[in-house]
Amino acid sequence: MAQSSDIRWGTLAVRGGEPRAKASDAVTTPIIQSATYAFKDTAELTRYFTGEIDREEYGRYGNPTVRAAEQKLAALEGAEDAALFSSGMAAVTTALFELLKAGDHVILTSDCYRRTRQFVTRFLAKLGVESTLVEPGDAQKLHAALKPGRTRAIIAESPTNPYLRVADLSLFTRARDACPGANLIIDATFATPINQRPIAQGADLVLHSCTKYLGGHNDLLAGVICGRAGLVSAIRDLRGVLGSVLDPQSAFLLIRGLKTLPLRVQRQNRSALEIARWLETQAKIRRVFYPGLESHPDHAQAVKQMSGFGGVVSFRIKGDASKLVDACKLATIAPSLGAVETLIEQPALMSYFELTTEEREAIGIYDDLVRLSVGLEDVEDLIADLSQALETA
Ligand SMILES: *Cc1c(COP(=O)(O)O)cnc(C)c1O
Repeated sequence: MAQSSDIRWGTLAVRGGEPRAKASDAVTTPIIQSATYAFKDTAELTRYFTGEIDREEYGRYGNPTVRAAEQKLAALEGAEDAALFSSGMAAVTTALFELLKAGDHVILTSDCYRRTRQFVTRFLAKLGVESTLVEPGDAQKLHAALKPGRTRAIIAESPTNPYLRVADLSLFTRARDACPGANLIIDATFATPINQRPIAQGADLVLHSCTKYLGGHNDLLAGVICGRAGLVSAIRDLRGVLGSVLDPQSAFLLIRGLKTLPLRVQRQNRSALEIARWLETQAKIRRVFYPGLESHPDHAQAVKQMSGFGGVVSFRIKGDASKLVDACKLATIAPSLGAVETLIEQPALMSYFELTTEEREAIGIYDDLVRLSVGLEDVEDLIADLSQALETA
């Protein structure tokens, strides 16, 4: 499998980014629950504003607990810097506001996160930003869509929801290289830095919804942008204007979650592969979508580009998917993914409830499709739960 086996994930996750000496001799990074920060005197204020000293000023511009979480994320992602936000969407919208102006052009893959597409095609369009959607594997269309001098952002996601398509990142870096001034943004939420390292593969910015694997416990909302220091710093400055800051309590929970990220993801990779293989042997299953399976259209690309296949498995059943989902006793019906609790959902209902079956089928979302986000329960129990639920479907 691709790269990253030489990265010391455990050490980076536990120690990365956090200063060795912490406030009050604490071993863990404390929650600094303060909206504003005191200056000793006017001389200190002057030294701060002239850049002689680096310190906190006001909560909308920074917080020490949030800063520690950002540095740990940058260390894990192999990025120069990272900026945290109050949600994944706050990270997306703030980054795009910083990068784009009226007259600019954005390319998005047609299967990238639905709310990101909505923001660009509906909202940024009103501000004069043009966009083109391209099918993820179509190199020709991607190059045809480039508008040199105007294309400022190329946004792709890998793996994608719900079919876990793995995009060849080199297609996107080549397109970016053909278009000076364009930034390649990869939403790597489904992969985590443990399974895929887009910066090492040439991306300018990497985006994660930390609500998913990075937080990992279904108890916080957060989003992060990682990348070159200058670019991240400009996006952070805009965060101070837009106000989409992460609170220190959530930053603390995120740091706590990140310490076990490698353990969690490695276990989720293993359990998901085992469940995907088991599902493939079941008579009531129509098709399983998991990049670790030889039957997945992007298996070869995943082997080349990723160091693990992730914890999400999608499958279509011969029967009533709602009955299967309702009969699960362990897997919980809920949106989201990536945490310790196994979650199950029908994308047709959870994400496309407002469409008719025909409209959903036109965009490839079938009523018999189920998405499973594999958690940390024992895999034998998860398989037993799915097995009894399948009988009812
Ligand atoms: C959840 C998600 C987001 C949005 O993140 P929030 O934290 O929910 O705002 C963006 N991209 C992907 C791939 C996601 O799964």
